[in-house]
Amino acid sequence: MKVPVVVIGAGACGLTAALAAKDAGVEVLVVERDATPSGSTALSSGFVPAAPTRFQNGDDSAEKMFLDIQRKNHGQADADLVGAICRASGPTIEWLADAHGIPFQLVEGFLYPGHSVERMHSVPEKTGEALLASLLRACRDVDMLRSARVTDVSRKEVIFQRPDGSKESVEYGALVLACSGFGGNAAMVKEHIPEVADALYFGHAGNQGDAVRWGMKLGAAIRDMSGYQGHGSVATPQNILVTWALMTEGGIQVNAEGQRFSNEHLGYSEQCVPVLQQPGGIAWCIYDERLHQLGMTFPDYRDAHAAGAVKRNPSLPRLEETLAKVKGYASGGRDPFGRDFSRKPTLVPPYYGIKVTGALFHTQGGLVVDPRARVLDAAGRPLPRLFAGGGAACGISGPRAWGYLSGNGLLSAVVLGRIAGQGAAA
Ligand SMILES: Cc1cc2nc3c(=O)[nH]c(=O)nc-3n(C[C@H](O)[C@H](O)[C@H](O)COP(=O)(O)OP(=O)(O)OC[C@H]3O[C@@H](n4cnc5c(N)ncnc54)[C@H](O)[C@@H]3O)c2cc1C
Repeated sequence: MKVPVVVIGAGACGLTAALAAKDAGVEVLVVERDATPSGSTALSSGFVPAAPTRFQNGDDSAEKMFLDIQRKNHGQADADLVGAICRASGPTIEWLADAHGIPFQLVEGFLYPGHSVERMHSVPEKTGEALLASLLRACRDVDMLRSARVTDVSRKEVIFQRPDGSKESVEYGALVLACSGFGGNAAMVKEHIPEVADALYFGHAGNQGDAVRWGMKLGAAIRDMSGYQGHGSVATPQNILVTWALMTEGGIQVNAEGQRFSNEHLGYSEQCVPVLQQPGGIAWCIYDERLHQLGMTFPDYRDAHAAGAVKRNPSLPRLEETLAKVKGYASGGRDPFGRDFSRKPTLVPPYYGIKVTGALFHTQGGLVVDPRARVLDAAGRPLPRLFAGGGAACGISGPRAWGYLSGNGLLSAVVLGRIAGQGAAA
């Protein structure tokens, strides 16, 4: 079997790449290990940043978005790549909406840390599952082999294994690696990101670092392998994501002693490690009725609520004292962790609490790609007919958890996916 464009992985990156190749009039085949595609895309909140788009209110630009991303990663990502992704983000979202019926809308009502304006786009259900379902619907005419785990890639062909152990191969004209990062590979996480080696992994188990392994074998360079998207707010023991909007809109995190330990407004990704460092590796998100109502607009939070994770008036040793201090910071006092409490309403009783832990969501390092999503070798030369995007490629978050700006994951999946699909088709 020989196909002009082969895409490995049916997550946001692979499906977007397939649509782009098909739109270019080129035959494409997606090879996916799972019987029912999910990937980390279906596990995510499904929020994709883009600017400017017609769904926004006219006050955003690719330049503003670029500055937000680079501020968060302290300028440590490849500026050319970040610039190209930002410039292509608006057109990509509008293309997915207009040409492929993905019902994007703007996520309104709150800002994630580091976003200077509202630029998150989601499908109406506000879930990654619904986003992936929309992409799969759009790909109904794309050839897809499911239950086909790729075991090796050469310069010419892709070898995959069926559930019965039999092996088959397909020759490609161009290849898009869209099989995500290495969060599901404990040995690689231990090697590259030891600080979360023992943390809960909240992404897709199939993310085994295959793209990095094959890419390196073919001569590719890798970068920022210690970079990752963490999260400091996964309800435990229920293992349900608790929206960070509770923090951005006024909530606080305390440890089991009822004491704060960080500036919650730096970002949810870097909050993973401070939470894990608290006694028992847990923290409590503390908030009030106003924020509970905001939470109830998020499907994950509703699930956490239904699972009994949300406690009214949680009893923690020094919580009253901590809340009194926070009131003081809101009226002129100085928070020792540097958070500005004056911009959001003060928390008022009754209080709510959810016990949470820190988790690894998604790795951010990977194969070095250029703004055309071409995989590069150590000298910066493109490898022939090889493209990568999403979790398979080195992202735009730099080398540490603090570099992850909310949305960087799906942004590089969807935008580099489209660029990779177009390049592979060409
Ligand atoms: C809980 C959670 C919430 C998140 N929320 C957001 C968010 O709101 N916004 C955001 O931007 N990012 C978010 N992320 C990150 C985001 O999910 C990822 O960045 C994104 O989904 C990566 O897309 P992808 O297509 O590269 O990989 P994936 O969606 O993981 O898809 C990779 C596919 O490749 C397949 N595959 C892997 N290996 C093989 C193989 N050997 N052979 C064949 N197939 C293979 C997998 O089965 C999978 O289907 C979140 C992540 C998590 C875990």
